[in-house]
Amino acid sequence: MREADWEGAQAAMVETLVRYGIRNERVLKAMAVVPRHRFIPGPPVHPAEAYGDHPYSIGHGQTISQPFIVAHMIEQLELAPGERVLEIGSGSGYVAAVLAEMGQWVFGVEIVPALARWAEEVLAREGYSGRVRIWCGDGRLGWPEEAPFDAMIGSCAAAREPRTLWAQLREGGRAIFPIGDGWSQRLVRFWKQEGRIVREEGLPVRFVPLVEGPSVGRDTDLGLTFSEDRG
Ligand code: SAH
Repeated sequence: MREADWEGAQAAMVETLVRYGIRNERVLKAMAVVPRHRFIPGPPVHPAEAYGDHPYSIGHGQTISQPFIVAHMIEQLELAPGERVLEIGSGSGYVAAVLAEMGQWVFGVEIVPALARWAEEVLAREGYSGRVRIWCGDGRLGWPEEAPFDAMIGSCAAAREPRTLWAQLREGGRAIFPIGDGWSQRLVRFWKQEGRIVREEGLPVRFVPLVEGPSVGRDTDLGLTFSEDRG
């Protein structure tokens, strides 16, 4: 595959984002730069697949998020450069890379060890490791040592509002999460105002569900201890 094929497909993706109403220049610029196809593990996929406006399998029953939804969610966070963002469900590392390209500091939590390792590797290879850190663990707990965050983004759907994370969101901070049971979900935007959380419902979406289970813990498979190795 020639580099030009990827570039053409990526430019077409950005045009689609504009047509669908994405206006934030920093988001559009970052998505025009981050090579989405290199974040998809396995053999190279066709440019139309990598840059089409749909999710794509990254193995482990997970997907790299749809470009429009990535752009829309990040736009909704109204980020200023240099703000710190917690991402729950880093998966391929693509959303983290877009945020890093925008000049954010990114703290990504990913529960599947193989995906956490993949994200770390590809982010390093693409030159984003100075701005992104990936933690393998249960995102429902957030990343207390790095709190407070200016913003939070959920890349997997929680059944309920993630109340446990609000203590880690700064006053004036924003968060966006897909919320809902099964495949019936909506994006919900949250703000912290005078210590209280204000919510606003947005678009209907379809994200992979957040993994909740007894096997899920802070130290999943990597044998790390939370307080010593996480920082
Ligand atoms: N932003 C990612 C989306 C990946 S899909 C991308 O564009 O590639 C959602 C991810 O959430 C999956 O990788 C899944 O393993 C992860 N996930 C599910 N439940 C989780 C939990 N409780 N804590 C952290 N990550 C979780």
